[in-house]
Amino acid sequence: MSGNVPTELMQVDMIASGYEWVCPECETYNREIGITEQIRCAKCNQEFEVKEAHHAYN
Ligand SMILES: [Zn+2]
Repeated sequence: MSGNVPTELMQVDMIASGYEWVCPECETYNREIGITEQIRCAKCNQEFEVKEAHHAYN
């Protein structure tokens, strides 16, 4: 029988774009791969506690 859906499809990795936040100290735009309880600004090295995670499309 022809026209069947192939049983073996190529696989891809889904990569989330990460989480974005702006440092309240120096207003540097930061991006995190995942959510942790504490984050650190890449520029001023200030640590912050993550209050809540939002999805951009919410
Ligand atoms: Zn900063």
